[in-house]
Amino acid sequence: MSPINRTLASQIRRLIKIGGPLTVAHYMNEALHNPSLGYYKKRKPFGKNGDFITAPEISQMFGEMIGAWCLDCWQKLGSPNPILLVELGPGRGTLLSDLWRVTSVSKEFRDAVQICLIEKSPTLKTLQQHQLSLLDSPPSPVWYENLSEVPDGTILMVANEFFDALPVHQFVSGDAGWRERMVDCDPDDPDRFRYVIAPNPTPATSYLSESSDVGEEVEISPMGLTIALEVATRISKCRGAALIVDFSSKGAGFSLQAVREHQYHDPLVAPGEADLACAVNFEQLSSLATKSGVSVHGPLGQGEFLRSLGIDRRAENLMKNTGFDRTNSTNDINSQLRRLTEPHLMGELFKVLAITSNELRNLPGFCANDCE
Ligand code: SAH
Repeated sequence: MSPINRTLASQIRRLIKIGGPLTVAHYMNEALHNPSLGYYKKRKPFGKNGDFITAPEISQMFGEMIGAWCLDCWQKLGSPNPILLVELGPGRGTLLSDLWRVTSVSKEFRDAVQICLIEKSPTLKTLQQHQLSLLDSPPSPVWYENLSEVPDGTILMVANEFFDALPVHQFVSGDAGWRERMVDCDPDDPDRFRYVIAPNPTPATSYLSESSDVGEEVEISPMGLTIALEVATRISKCRGAALIVDFSSKGAGFSLQAVREHQYHDPLVAPGEADLACAVNFEQLSSLATKSGVSVHGPLGQGEFLRSLGIDRRAENLMKNTGFDRTNSTNDINSQLRRLTEPHLMGELFKVLAITSNELRNLPGFCANDCE
């Protein structure tokens, strides 16, 4: 008897043999979240020894700037008590740790805040618990799998590289209208998958209203749009501010990519072994939020946002060794600063969008020249 093949690829092949090609969204969901073999279940993705590195893992300055942003927004909202501080997809808990240290300047804020973490991966939830337990006066968050479970209330929300991890459907425009791109088994190679175009409209095709030029390619994340709508609705009902930081699409076309050990990888090879992500369509998020009656700020480049919040000054202080320092050399701090802010590194590719209640004007980070 041949041994049971326990790879995720073999499970996906079985799914396809039984039910036909999968949507790209279904494939991504299996690759990232399959309960026993998905990427977030198995691997430790972040940091220098992981598959990819995110802004908070590059430097403590990133979380600190976001901490300052949260404090400022809270004050501009009239220092409400209680205030919910929600982080979507906290990874290893690094951003929240750095943010939390900054809030030590306001006992009033710390007394008012209730931290809610939205995390689907049990492995990462354990890492987050551990990371936060190392802090002086650690916070006491509550974990949820979905934003919809968080109670109502005035909200500050932060999401760094969360939306890019959500499954997308892909469509291409042809003579007969939009058709969905699907994932099928490759008949020539049992270890690979291949893309095929669905011959007829699939249920997801209904997300697209009009036809377009032949050959145009579009990605839509129903989950991303649903979460953005939920954020905007909460803010419109209960007031607050949300900050979304993510890598953005440079233009039309498909953006699904896989990264493993800091190298690009074919998304259709060895699912579950590499991180999958898609560029975030900030235009879609922004127009959806605007229609919900809340204010939208940005998107603007991550570099401009961090500079406007004072990251250069913070870097200088760290180099003089004042305050908490997670790093140990001036060179490190300089190269981290460049990586986060320079246009050809993360400064332009990563965008920042804020969704706030309409009373919030002169939003920190978004008003370089005209803040009061
Ligand atoms: N914000 C972190 C991690 C980004 S990776 C950082 O910047 O370092 C994406 C994070 O979102 C991970 O924590 C992942 O487990 C979580 N995640 C992905 N999809 C999710 C979903 N559908 N629901 C809840 N969390 C999710």
